[in-house]
Amino acid sequence: MIVLNKLNDPQLGREMFRIVKEQAGQVAERLGRAVTLMEVCGTHTMNITSTGLHGLLSGLVELRSGPGCPVCVTAAGEIEQMLAFTRVPRVTVATFGDMVRVPGLVSSLEMERARGARVQIVYSPADAVALARDNPTREVVFLGVGFETTAPLVALSINQAANLGLANFSVYSVHKLVPPVMRALLNAGEVRVDGFLLPGHVCAVTGSHAFAFIGEDYGIPAVVTGFTTVDILDALYVLLKKIHTGDNRVVNGYRWVVRDEGNLQAQEAMKDYFYTGDAFWRGFGVVNCSGLFIKEKFARYDAMRKFVLGEPDSTGGLDLVVQPANIAASKAGASGDCFTINNAAEPRGCRCGELLRGLITPEGCALFGRKCTPATPVGPCMVSAEGACAAYYRYGAAITN
Ligand code: SF4
Repeated sequence: MIVLNKLNDPQLGREMFRIVKEQAGQVAERLGRAVTLMEVCGTHTMNITSTGLHGLLSGLVELRSGPGCPVCVTAAGEIEQMLAFTRVPRVTVATFGDMVRVPGLVSSLEMERARGARVQIVYSPADAVALARDNPTREVVFLGVGFETTAPLVALSINQAANLGLANFSVYSVHKLVPPVMRALLNAGEVRVDGFLLPGHVCAVTGSHAFAFIGEDYGIPAVVTGFTTVDILDALYVLLKKIHTGDNRVVNGYRWVVRDEGNLQAQEAMKDYFYTGDAFWRGFGVVNCSGLFIKEKFARYDAMRKFVLGEPDSTGGLDLVVQPANIAASKAGASGDCFTINNAAEPRGCRCGELLRGLITPEGCALFGRKCTPATPVGPCMVSAEGACAAYYRYGAAITN
């Protein structure tokens, strides 16, 4: 408790901010420009905007948001697939709340629910299993959206469904892996980033070593950090210092939670139930081996096989095939175990893709605060609690005319 109080101590925060600003000034002076830092975590984005850090450091540090919000990076085609599941008779779609209002091309889960579809918000994958157990006449499709943090829990939910002998539970897995998309971002070379704040909760599973390539291969420093203001200020200070001294190693600044090798048990759970394949990311397109898909031996729990690809379900599941016109789901690769899902068009005028690649901040989108607000979201970055547009709108200066 003393430690927690310390991490939220305003006086300590103010003193730390003074030191960070001083360090930022030295680095900016040496570079002859503002330092560009990227946070790759929606919770960090929320903290940075809610504390006003991005404004307070303006002119010295430019903070960009990367692909750190799992709802935001979910591809448009994947959202259309989720909507297609709601139209299957006897299916209940179970989802975390953030997905419900994400706009698809012409609809959303919320709109489908208003039209009579069964869309149930759950707070954990285990809740979705319980829903299936308690409703044996319905098929429950859980939308598996998230990064390394969520995937082990979803793996356990499949295990739980198997132990209960449930034949009416499946997962639409669009889980994504953060290290591959970081590599894709850096390989693209579109945005100059001087340093990264790395997501503490993802690193708790992957370990900080999973991100060592950022320093080793690209010569850019990065710091794994937690989620309090003091955590973030501390990480900013360390990062700025590393930029100043030219030390490019990745630092684990969240040692009380993150081990260098990560959570081995969680990694095993993921390996047991998922294989990695190419995945489509909003803003990035296909990123090699960046998605987690359910292994063949758990096919009966894979909503894609059960409904979309029409593979036989040995448990006697639904004899239905859903193939929305704008989705092309195909098997690829010699082993036949790698799916590629093609994307669909983005909402007109929405620049979420560029935002997720760090090319713009929300104010760079002409729709921000005008046509696109939390009440009338055009893109996912305005919907999700972890989305940069929602955070900037909530805590920044929204355009009101
Ligand atoms: S402001 Fe709205 S339309 Fe623009 S990038 Fe953000 S979510 Fe997309």
